[in-house]
Amino acid sequence: MVSRIEQRCIDKGMKMTDQRRVIAQVLSDSADHPDVEEVYRRATAKDPRISIATVYRTVRLFEEESILERHDFGDGRARYEEAPSEHHDHLIDVNSARVIEFTSPEIEALQREIARKHGFRLVGHRLELYGVPLTSGGDSDDK
Ligand SMILES: [Zn+2]
Repeated sequence: MVSRIEQRCIDKGMKMTDQRRVIAQVLSDSADHPDVEEVYRRATAKDPRISIATVYRTVRLFEEESILERHDFGDGRARYEEAPSEHHDHLIDVNSARVIEFTSPEIEALQREIARKHGFRLVGHRLELYGVPLTSGGDSDDK
């Protein structure tokens, strides 16, 4: 079985070792946004010979090849996900670190408009929203 990310590597003509293949598989199976240590945990569950250094190197390589996207969700740890075919933004629950993916046509349009006003054509952006759940008994003093 060739995983999605392995197929993207093959399409780019990258050399695939067994360990790279395992890491590609782990990342293809990850629906969340794992950091390197989490990728390492999941990879060593499949092949205990994989070192953390190999995971770091491989993840960096995949990122350089635009197969993975790196995110920083405010805790200083790099998190990765397969580069999505459709753009999305992230909302991070600062209590649980849960990450919600969303898209907003209004935000996309507004960003293009801001860039245009400054004389630019927008080619990309990063947006992370940080919040706490409204139901967590936090401050709900709507004024
Ligand atoms: Zn995402």
